[in-house]
Amino acid sequence: MPVADFEPVIGLEVHAQLLTRTKIFCGCATAFGAAPNTQVCPTCLGLPGALPQLNRAAVEMAVRAGKAFGCNIATRSVWSRKNYFYPDLPKGYQISQFELPICAGGAVPVPGLGKVALERIHLEEDAGKNIHAEGGSEVDLNRSGTPLIEIVGKPDLRSAEDASEYLKALRLALIYLGVNDGNLEEGSFRCDANVSVRPRGAEKYGTRVELKNINSFRFVRQAIDFEIGRQVEAIQKGEKIRMETRLFDHEKGVTRPMRSKEEANDYRYFPEPDLPPLTISQAFIDAVALPKLPNQIAEELEAAGVPAADARTLIADPRLVSVHQRIGGDPRRAALFVVGELARAVNEKEADLSALKFEPALVREAFALQDSGAISSTAARDVLAELIRSGKPPQQIVQEKGLAQVSDTSALEAVVDAVIARNPGEVAKYRGGKTNLLGFFVGQAMRDLKGKGNPSVLNGLFTKKLQG
Ligand SMILES: [Zn+2]
Repeated sequence: MPVADFEPVIGLEVHAQLLTRTKIFCGCATAFGAAPNTQVCPTCLGLPGALPQLNRAAVEMAVRAGKAFGCNIATRSVWSRKNYFYPDLPKGYQISQFELPICAGGAVPVPGLGKVALERIHLEEDAGKNIHAEGGSEVDLNRSGTPLIEIVGKPDLRSAEDASEYLKALRLALIYLGVNDGNLEEGSFRCDANVSVRPRGAEKYGTRVELKNINSFRFVRQAIDFEIGRQVEAIQKGEKIRMETRLFDHEKGVTRPMRSKEEANDYRYFPEPDLPPLTISQAFIDAVALPKLPNQIAEELEAAGVPAADARTLIADPRLVSVHQRIGGDPRRAALFVVGELARAVNEKEADLSALKFEPALVREAFALQDSGAISSTAARDVLAELIRSGKPPQQIVQEKGLAQVSDTSALEAVVDAVIARNPGEVAKYRGGKTNLLGFFVGQAMRDLKGKGNPSVLNGLFTKKLQG
């Protein structure tokens, strides 16, 4: 059977760390980057006798995500123990939700793909982290007990590209919701991909393979594409696909077997005896505020006249959206500044979006100076660049840099006369019909004025004098 006759089936499971200040079942801090094993207590170390206490903020965040994606929010959900042994899991089990998760159903809007359906979103605690170094392995339990939501998508994706688009949209939505920082490198947004192939048109799914913890969008595409190719090739050779967990080796671009996949019953899930079922009232659910999602903001920007491409660039970072809002005025013009001058300054490390030196509303003052003819469009660019760098008010920058445009006719007339006097040949040609030389004259005058002449006034003066 040729490759084209196979259909890939992909379902993604995303573990997203919630942005609570403290862990899900104790008061330890969740901040990333602290010295190993300094943010721990008997509960998250899994010491005998310690009892978990649920963090309300984690529940709120899970509900917010559920509301945003249109899930059914359960007023009663149940905590379960998921048992397995791993050095970074001192309790020997993870507290998760199995049979009754907090959110069921729903879908994530993905540009170009419509809505990608979700199976469920459940709350659970993160494990610690094994650190493999030369000379041995160590374990850091700072992460142990950090709240997670696991967002389980339905196996509705059909290509590596679609999977990557879905992940990007999901990540951005979680950032806008304020529940996750979207940091793949630090592991706060992690993805496992379930991949199988089946003959096109077949109802039954093929045997699926789980790809673990892939930490970039590019690796997600590479890993899934490699896995689709590997499975198709194996089936073509008459081999059976084994249900297993595989790891992606990004240096070689291949997936490798890690372990044979556990079935759910291998985990011996049972209700967590130390925590009562989680009951939340409809009033609690209703009270959870829902910020706008990025696609909604993009639609609003486009409706306000911002070109689609600029709108996409803006929503890629909520900080850009905030600057755009604070500039105010004409949304198109403000967007042009944000995706143009400001983005360039950020790229060149002249500006930091997390610590802007300028008050965005001042951008409009620079626009106003340009519109009134007080400064030229070239000078306006200088003013904006300096505003971004120093935060000084545009008026002050114009004065300090001597950027004010000369619009005074009598001052310009002397320059125009001088240009005409020293270019008799061009003047004769112009008068002989080569009127496109006007640009040349204006250019000469601009040079004399060091770029500060008002071009439309100069145009008028030259036209009048050359005709005379
Ligand atoms: Zn703790």
